[in-house]
Amino acid sequence: MQVNFPLALSSALAEGVFSARCLGVNSSEQLFQRALAMIPGGVNSPVRAFRSVGGTPFFTKSANGARLTTADGQELIDFVLTWGPAIHGHNDPEIRNAIRDALDRGTSFGTPNPLEVEMAELLLACFPAVKKVRMTNSGTEATMSAIRLARGFTGRPKIIKFSGCYHGHVDSLLVKAGSGALTQGNPDSAGVTPGTAADTLVAEYNNLPALAALFEANVGQVAGLIVEPFPANVGLILPDAGFLAGLRELCTKHGTVLIFDEVMTGFRLSLAGTQGLHTVVPDLVCMGKIIGGGLPVGAFGGKAEIMDKLAPLGPVYQAGTLSGNPLAMAAGLAAVRKLQRENPYPRLEVLGQRVRDTLLAAAKAKGIPLQVPQVGSMFSLFFNTEKVRNYDQAIASNGDLYRKVFRYALDHGVYLAPSPYETAFLSTAHEGKDIDQACTVLDAAVRAL
Ligand SMILES: *Cc1c(COP(=O)(O)O)cnc(C)c1O
Repeated sequence: MQVNFPLALSSALAEGVFSARCLGVNSSEQLFQRALAMIPGGVNSPVRAFRSVGGTPFFTKSANGARLTTADGQELIDFVLTWGPAIHGHNDPEIRNAIRDALDRGTSFGTPNPLEVEMAELLLACFPAVKKVRMTNSGTEATMSAIRLARGFTGRPKIIKFSGCYHGHVDSLLVKAGSGALTQGNPDSAGVTPGTAADTLVAEYNNLPALAALFEANVGQVAGLIVEPFPANVGLILPDAGFLAGLRELCTKHGTVLIFDEVMTGFRLSLAGTQGLHTVVPDLVCMGKIIGGGLPVGAFGGKAEIMDKLAPLGPVYQAGTLSGNPLAMAAGLAAVRKLQRENPYPRLEVLGQRVRDTLLAAAKAKGIPLQVPQVGSMFSLFFNTEKVRNYDQAIASNGDLYRKVFRYALDHGVYLAPSPYETAFLSTAHEGKDIDQACTVLDAAVRAL
C-alpha cells in the first residue's frame, strides 16, 4: 500500500492525535478515540466497550498475576480474567515457558502435530463423557460445530436452547442470548434470518414442565439441546435439584443429542467442569477458554458414534486452518497440567465464599437486597430480593446498583465485569493481599450505595 505521507500527517493533525503520538502519550482515552475511527465501537468484542456501565474502556498495557496495568498506569485487581481463561492469573510462568518452547519449533504446520494428541488424551482423561474430541479456534466454532453434528447425526432440523444462555455468536444461537448480546440490548441479533431463528426453540432454564411440553410439540424434530449446565452469561444461575437430570431424561426419551456447553465452566469448576459436581452425562461437550491457556481455542467432543460422523470419517463437514495450533495446544496443556498437579479447586472455593460473604454482609448492613450466587471461583451480583433461577428474573435485577458498585470498585482499583450480566472470576493468583484489598473495596462499594 502506498502511504501519502503529507495527507496522513495533515489528517492526523486535524484529528488531534498527531501530537499525542509524537509525545508517546497513549492514554486509554486517546487510544479509544483513535480506535473509534477505525474499529466499530472501538472494540473487537462488544462487551469491552463499557456501554452498559458508561465511560471509556481502559486499555491494558500488561497483566501479571491478579493485576492488570492500564495504559494510564493504573493497577487493577482483575475479576474478569480475560473473560474466564486466566484461572492461574495472568502471565503465568509455566504457560509462558510452554509457549516459548513451542514457538522455537514453529507457529503452525498445517499437518497433525504431537501436541494435538497430548491435548486429546488430556481432555479424554478429564471428561469421562468425551470419547473423541476435535479442536477448534474458539468456543463459537465448538458450539457451531456441535450443533451441526447433532443435526447431521439425527437428520433433524431443530435445536433447543435456553433464554439467557450464551454459546458464542453462532447465527442459530443468537436467539435470546446472554453475555454481550444481552448487555448491548440485542439478544436476538439482526442479520439472523427468520428461517434460521425458526429452527431454534427457546426454553426457560429451570423449568422442566415447559421443556417437556416444547418437546411434545416438536416430536421427532429436535436434533440437539444445548445448555450451559450452570449458566454464566446472564450473571450466574445455578440449576435446581434434578434439573440437569431432567434434561438428560427428556433428551434420551426424544432421541435428542444433549450438548453441555462448558466453554466457561470446563476446568474452572473442576477438571471435568460442572460434570465434576453432578452425575449427569451429556452426549457432547463444548470446551474453550481455559484449555487455550490464554490463546485462541475451542474443542468439542463426546460419544464416539456421534463424533465419527465428522469428516473425514463421516458426512458432517468441519475444519480449521489453525485448528490444533501448536502454540495454543502448548499453552492449554500447561494450563491444564498445572490444574491437575495443584488441584486448586478447594482453595478457589474458599476465595469465592470469602468474596460472596463480604458482599452479602455489606448489603445486609445497608438493607439492600442482593443475591450473590457463587460456585468455586465464579460469582455474580444480582440486586434482587429473590434468588435468580432464570433469565427473566436475572434481567429484573437492579442494573443501576450494579453500575454504581462497578464504578466505585474501578475507581478504587478493582475491575469487575463491565456489565450486570456477566460472571466474575477468581484465580489462584488472587490469594493473599490481592483478595484482602479487593474485599475491602467491594465492601466499601456496597456500603457506599
Ligand atoms: C465464551 C463462551 C462461548 C464462546 O467462546 P468464544 O471463544 O468467545 O467464541 C461459548 N459458550 C460459552 C458458555 C461461553 O462462555
